[in-house]
Amino acid sequence: MPNHQRVVVIGGGVSGLATAYLLARDAGPEVEIVLLEASDRLGGKILTQDVAGHPVDMGPDALLVRLPAMRALLEDLDLTTAIVAPGASGAFIWSRARLRPLPPSTLFGIPQKLLPLLRSGLLSPLGVARAALDLVLPRTRTGEDPSVGELVRPRFGSEVFERLVDPMLGGVHAGRADDLSAQSSVPEIAALARRSRSIYLGSRSMRRGSTSSGPALVTLEGGLSRLVDTLVSRLDTCEVRLGAAVTGLRRVSESQDVAGVDAASTDATGYLVELFDGTELAADTVVLATPAFVTADLLARVAPDAAVAAREVPYADVASLTLVYPRDAVTHGLDGTGFLVPPEEGLLLVGCSWLPAKWPHLTDPSSVLIRAMVGRHGDDRFASMDDDALVDQVHRELVQTMGMSAPPTSAHVQRWPRAMPQYTVGHRRRLERIDHALTDVPGIHVTGAAFGGVGIASCVARAQRTAAALTTDVDSAVASSKGPA
Ligand SMILES: Cc1cc2nc3c(=O)[nH]c(=O)nc-3n(C[C@H](O)[C@H](O)[C@H](O)COP(=O)(O)OP(=O)(O)OC[C@H]3O[C@@H](n4cnc5c(N)ncnc54)[C@H](O)[C@@H]3O)c2cc1C
Repeated sequence: MPNHQRVVVIGGGVSGLATAYLLARDAGPEVEIVLLEASDRLGGKILTQDVAGHPVDMGPDALLVRLPAMRALLEDLDLTTAIVAPGASGAFIWSRARLRPLPPSTLFGIPQKLLPLLRSGLLSPLGVARAALDLVLPRTRTGEDPSVGELVRPRFGSEVFERLVDPMLGGVHAGRADDLSAQSSVPEIAALARRSRSIYLGSRSMRRGSTSSGPALVTLEGGLSRLVDTLVSRLDTCEVRLGAAVTGLRRVSESQDVAGVDAASTDATGYLVELFDGTELAADTVVLATPAFVTADLLARVAPDAAVAAREVPYADVASLTLVYPRDAVTHGLDGTGFLVPPEEGLLLVGCSWLPAKWPHLTDPSSVLIRAMVGRHGDDRFASMDDDALVDQVHRELVQTMGMSAPPTSAHVQRWPRAMPQYTVGHRRRLERIDHALTDVPGIHVTGAAFGGVGIASCVARAQRTAAALTTDVDSAVASSKGPA
């Protein structure tokens, strides 16, 4: 076995880029890294574009900076000075013909204080009284992997569920709380329910014990593509290929002849990465940082059981619209970051960000940028509308919710088909099946938003674990190739 190892990373979203960067940083010079990206750009769902002269994010626009892996990456990339904190706090929920303040102190919509809940008018007095029952109800017995609905409804009642928790999970996961697994989508709440008879009391004591300070969600000056650009600028020792769609993976063993292939280590057990143009690339180790349905296709021959489990992860189609309104058209005070819409309201809108209030660097003297999100699991009505019809409908809903008095002067529509993985009930078992199947296939690593957390910070945390595992594997492969000292 030669003392040279080739790692091929498939997928140039933040998961693939962060894995490649951390591996390049930590592994020795014996490691050659090749990153293959199908499209003609890097960043995947992270995409900042110019709208009316401002850098607006079309995909994610906020980083959960409290997650240590995210914070560490920003520090490592010298990006902490580029952090922009939200300019407003608080948000609203569209409910029963009004924008009502989201009560402060909620954990994914679970109230941590009852008085602000009552004052917000979001729930009826009866709904607040029903929520308070959590304090006295005996512990709720659920199955091993309850949905968020199964956990929350019996404790807090249907108003908390429908007007707070469901819209919150629509905003974060583009999902429905009756389908999503509590332990996979809101592990904090699942843990509280296990630990404490009353989720309300448990979450209050967790809040008291919290030492975190500063905003949890931030962005970067110039938009989140800056994170991508900075990661890419640090990949100078890696080979990055764009327009390089991978179509399959094959395992090769020591006895197999892979002559004629662009091989790194043809005498070792490894893989052949098949590309769309019919060429193949030999790899000692492969990292799949692709959406689960692509990962499933690529694993089909090397780990069929893992492929079956990966294919079971459902996805939601979503779209973001950035609407530029003349300043005079916006009569609303924009005294928060925006609003969420419960599915029961029947709107196309899932959420709306008031960009100048949310991110101060997106303030414009003559116009107001509004970002609308549409689409959630089970509601892809928007997908059959063309861009003009979609903008028109969203504008009408903004007239209804915010009182816009004139149409937008321009609009940018970004569609994201099959974009948001749904951690539905059974997700953890699916991950266990993938891990189990991959124990028989050394040198294959699976990472990305479909598996260990949907947000960028979770992708970075998983990339960190993947890179650490790879570094160990590669170091021991190199050490064994050198033989006993
Ligand atoms: C509209 C929207 C808003 C969001 N808002 C937030 C937010 O505010 N905060 C947050 O933290 N998260 C947010 N998210 C989630 C976050 O954007 C994603 O979870 C994260 O960017 C996923 O990164 P990834 O690298 O795992 O996957 P992706 O970004 O999907 O990257 C996968 C890459 O693999 C490539 N690829 C696919 N097939 C192949 C192939 N066969 N060969 C080679 N390459 C291939 C793709 O082209 C892509 O570049 C949002 C997502 C969306 C869609």
